[in-house]
Amino acid sequence: MNNHRFNGSLITHLVCSKCNTFFDHQVVQTFATCCNVPLSAAYDLRNQSIKEIIANDYSMWRYRFALPILDSSNIVSLNEGYTPITELRKLSEQLSNSAIFLKDESVNPTGSFKARGLSMGVSKAKELGIKRMVIPTAGNAGGAMSAYCAKAGIEATVVMPKHTADTLKDECRLYGANLIQMDGLIDACGKKAREIAASTGAFDMSTMKEPYRLEGKKTLGYEIAEQFNWVLPDIIVYPAGGGTGLIGIWKAFKELISMGAIKGLLPKMVLVQSDECSPMVHLFKDGQLPINYSPKPSAALGLAVPYPFATAMMLEVLKESNGIALTVTEEEMEMGVEAIAKIEGVLLSPEGAATYKATQKLFELGWIKNTDKVLLVNTGSWYKYR
Ligand SMILES: *Cc1c(COP(=O)(O)O)cnc(C)c1O
Repeated sequence: MNNHRFNGSLITHLVCSKCNTFFDHQVVQTFATCCNVPLSAAYDLRNQSIKEIIANDYSMWRYRFALPILDSSNIVSLNEGYTPITELRKLSEQLSNSAIFLKDESVNPTGSFKARGLSMGVSKAKELGIKRMVIPTAGNAGGAMSAYCAKAGIEATVVMPKHTADTLKDECRLYGANLIQMDGLIDACGKKAREIAASTGAFDMSTMKEPYRLEGKKTLGYEIAEQFNWVLPDIIVYPAGGGTGLIGIWKAFKELISMGAIKGLLPKMVLVQSDECSPMVHLFKDGQLPINYSPKPSAALGLAVPYPFATAMMLEVLKESNGIALTVTEEEMEMGVEAIAKIEGVLLSPEGAATYKATQKLFELGWIKNTDKVLLVNTGSWYKYR
């Protein structure tokens, strides 16, 4: 039935996210060396009909026309993406709101939405002939990279903070990765990963330091649009660490606009972080980090990124979308997990619970209105944090 469907990629080049210098997409790239900022993939989507170009595939690879894999045989997939959106009816009632929805990424392979980025990144590595990869991680990205590298037959090294829960370490070992543990947060792991990349020639998969993971995370935005039948919600609440999800969702919406696939206003994007580590909230509010900035670990592992690389791109999304950035406390996240479990029968990751508590706060402030359609993103599985 779908024999005649287009099955390739419409990628044209990579581009510096600051000065628009072009980079070749057919060779291994890292970041935009001209401006020391992330690279972004560009596609020729003109005159394409979204409904006709979606692949006959029930994973994130249904949007492969807007992903950078040139030959589909290089795709390394464990069926990531195509995750459900459900309405949180009781929560909507509690907040007297028209509709609050949950995009549940906990059902992805390896239990978090990191699967999207790493399926993409490892597939591209395979296509480019990369044999070894290294990744600094707060936990979930390391597990995801290990799993996809196992499937692709690529050697994986994962650098993780020592304080991380055993589940997250054990899964890397089970997938056959080399695990290195460091004191401190993900920035210390990033430094170690750079050393390993320099001394072994391994490809460094650090968040936003390569252009491919973002493209995988972008499929979240395509799915959200398709699941809402191409009419987007008013507000999307996202727990940000390195920012690939936030930037990716927004990139997807812009690509969909360029194809004429979505209409109406774009959602306001809400960026949530933990009180313990909230560089983006500081940058959003004050334009700089405080003098006594002292980031600490958070139960929400994915949010403990003290010095993200893509700060300018995240701030741009908040500005363009009329969005906002705010923090929640560790206690609030813990209470949030319990509250949603009791009324909705869903276990959120601490990061997911952060989006719920942030939503509650924004209602109290009147920033979210009762008529707004709100989408929360539960980025990972509660079960991984034991
Ligand atoms: C990595 C991670 C985040 C943050 O995602 P970014 O794309 O780095 O902003 C949020 N939640 C979970 C569960 C994560 O693993």
